[in-house]
Amino acid sequence: MTICSSCGRADHLSLVTMMYAGPRPDSEPDDSDDPRLGRLLVYCESCRIEHLHNVGVSIPLQLVDEDLLMALYREGITASEPETVVDLILDWDAPGLAERLRDASVDVMPLSGIPQGCSSKFPTLGLVGR
Ligand SMILES: [Zn+2]
Repeated sequence: MTICSSCGRADHLSLVTMMYAGPRPDSEPDDSDDPRLGRLLVYCESCRIEHLHNVGVSIPLQLVDEDLLMALYREGITASEPETVVDLILDWDAPGLAERLRDASVDVMPLSGIPQGCSSKFPTLGLVGR
C-alpha cells in the first residue's frame, strides 16, 4: 500500500518532487546544484501543503502510472533511486519497472497530455498556472 512518506497517512496522496535546491527553473543546469533534480516522495495533502515551498512537481497519485514516471526520469525532473521509488515510496508490485526507469532514454517526451489537476513549476511540463 502506498502511504505518505512523511506521516504514513494513506488518503489524498500525491507524488511530489522535493527540490534539493530552491525553485530556480531559469538557472543553467549544473551537475552539483541542478534545481530540476528532485527527490520523489509521496505526500498526503497536509504534508504536501506543509512542504509546498520545496515541491517541484505534484501529481495526484491516482494519475501516476509507468509512462508518467518514465517521463519524470527522462525529463530529469527526478534523480531518485528507482528501486527506492518503486519498492519503498510507491510500494508497487511492478517487476522490471525500476530497471526501465533507470534506462529511461534522454528523449524528451511531450507532457502536454498530463491530465488536469497536476501542477508543476517547470515550464517544460507545460503545466504552469494550473
Ligand atoms: Zn502526510
